[in-house]
Amino acid sequence: MQEVHILWTSEGMSCDGDTVSVTAATLPSIEDVLLGLVPGLPKVHLHNKVLAAEVGEEFMTAFNKAWHDELGPFIFVVEGSIPNEKINGEGYWTSMGNDPITGQPITVNQWIDRLAPKAWAVVAAGTCATYGGIHAMAGNPTGCMGLADYLGKDFRSAGGLPIVNVPGCPVQPDNFMETLTWLLYQVAGLAPMIPLDKELRPTWLFGKTVHEGCDRAGYYEQGDFALDYNSPKCQVKIGCWGPVVNCNVTKRGWMDGIGGCPNVGGICIGCTMPGFPDKFMPFMDQPPGATVSATLTGAYGTLIRKLRGITNKTVNKEPKWHHNRPELTSGYEPRQIF
Ligand code: SF4
Ligand code: SF4
Repeated sequence: MQEVHILWTSEGMSCDGDTVSVTAATLPSIEDVLLGLVPGLPKVHLHNKVLAAEVGEEFMTAFNKAWHDELGPFIFVVEGSIPNEKINGEGYWTSMGNDPITGQPITVNQWIDRLAPKAWAVVAAGTCATYGGIHAMAGNPTGCMGLADYLGKDFRSAGGLPIVNVPGCPVQPDNFMETLTWLLYQVAGLAPMIPLDKELRPTWLFGKTVHEGCDRAGYYEQGDFALDYNSPKCQVKIGCWGPVVNCNVTKRGWMDGIGGCPNVGGICIGCTMPGFPDKFMPFMDQPPGATVSATLTGAYGTLIRKLRGITNKTVNKEPKWHHNRPELTSGYEPRQIF
């Protein structure tokens, strides 16, 4: 396959933060992909309004062509949660472009209906598109949902793939670009089926918890806890959900290895998770189980810390045979020659 288009709508309920985040990717960068600098990838054309030179109807040309089967193979990226247009009263919640005949706005939902079944792959970028996110929290007026809630979890694209979810608020840029790169290799016939978990996330990116990669996990294990936000110690007592959240930013940072919430003092509030935000609120309260685990770890950790303190003193001293006296005390025994 020689050329692939990426049709990216950020017109779901969103802040465009995922688009902005992806401009910081380095593994690979979006520029490297578009300039054809990644060996083996097909030529890629990106259509994203925030990054596009075209505006208005000119920008919409590729979307219209894809709808009429005139574009060629494309990956459809959806950013932002999907409102329920069945409850929009006499208006609409969100749209992209106007119908040239009626002049009426074309809703994002209509674009999803038109393009998702024709796309070689469909990717939900960020927590809003994957699981609804902030817009879909309890009490929202739009009936928002994630893409798999809208299309159904059994949806299959023209390439035979389920929806590919890359959550994160915003999406971690290299997580997104690695996923896109896998799909582009898959389009080119150079990669097997992308491995996804039951929440449709790439397994190699979301298979571990925040806690398992956290710089502060050593403090947790020793029962040494922060009691305020001005501490380098484990933050579980001040609201960190890291032990039960699937996210890799403690391993790879927010951008180019820098940051990663708990590593740099931010409690994990579970922004990659299907239950976010409602199941993690109120933020900054102790997560369920934190008191029990912190108490148990606290008792064990106090003893371990003491023992490690003794060992630490020992290993901080040089061996006693390092001296300048006129005698050898290293234990060297010359070989006897018979
Ligand atoms: S700060 Fe959070 S993620 Fe890090 S060790 Fe503590 S509980 Fe785990
Ligand atoms: S560590 Fe927690 S809050 Fe930070 S990006 Fe990951 S899931 Fe979101």
